[in-house]
Amino acid sequence: DIKIQLKDITKMFATDEMETHALRGIDLSIRAGDYVSIAGPSGCGKSTLLAILGLLDTPTSGQYLIEGKDVAGMSLAQSASIRNEKIGFVFQAFNLIDELSVYDNIALPLRYRNKTLSQSEIDARVAKWLDKVEMGHRARHRPSQLSGGQQQRVAIARALVGEPAILLVDEPTGNLDSTNGDIVMEMLAQLNREGTTLCMVTHDQRYADMATTKLHLMDGKMVRTQAEPEIAYSQ
Ligand code: ADP
Ligand code: ADP
Repeated sequence: DIKIQLKDITKMFATDEMETHALRGIDLSIRAGDYVSIAGPSGCGKSTLLAILGLLDTPTSGQYLIEGKDVAGMSLAQSASIRNEKIGFVFQAFNLIDELSVYDNIALPLRYRNKTLSQSEIDARVAKWLDKVEMGHRARHRPSQLSGGQQQRVAIARALVGEPAILLVDEPTGNLDSTNGDIVMEMLAQLNREGTTLCMVTHDQRYADMATTKLHLMDGKMVRTQAEPEIAYSQ
């Protein structure tokens, strides 16, 4: 059950002075239930790849299929609609709305997109995802009243409340101390064990290693690192 397929994706940025090949021939398949991490040094193309996966940018060439549907040649309106329906985003900055409660932040995508859901259906969905990120006791708080780790957990619930095909995660721990970073990463791993399909970009190798499929970008090219954990040297 393949959710996401990239075939020979390239991305070139051209300015008057120079051309940058940000991505060079990327092939990637993500199956339902996968946890993919993409690591690599600054400038290797991680953000560009995530923007293409999230339909925030278009490739220069290559094929992109979401659940078998070709999304590469779509109009902006079509790709916005696929993005809303199929893709959840979690960023380094939590991007929560402080005028709204935790509950209303999480409910917002449902109210905005699924106009057919009744209030009780919305309540049930929000309660489910509040519970999954262990924030049920903070539903009426404002984001600014929460710790950074708690805010990121709310952002994860908001990204998943519409039950997208894939969750794209960009440096989720960049604004967190290591304790909260570890809590958020453990929560993402738990959500993956419960079935969420995840693709995460990080430069933190320790977190990249928590994924089941570990990919490395180098100068716009994909290098697959070994899937099995390294066996410690012993005599
Ligand atoms: P990473 O996220 O791994 O740091 P990026 O995807 O941001 O890497 O960038 C990959 C390459 O593409 C870099 O050389 C960067 O300078 C270049 N690049 C990214 N975005 C643009 C843009 N909008 N215009 C020109 N060059 C860009
Ligand atoms: P936790 O106990 O979940 O690890 P913290 O220790 O960061 O979280 O915070 C304890 C509780 O105090 C949090 O659940 C949060 O709701 C509340 N809290 C934290 N910072 C503030 C604040 N600036 N204003 C109001 N409440 C806060």
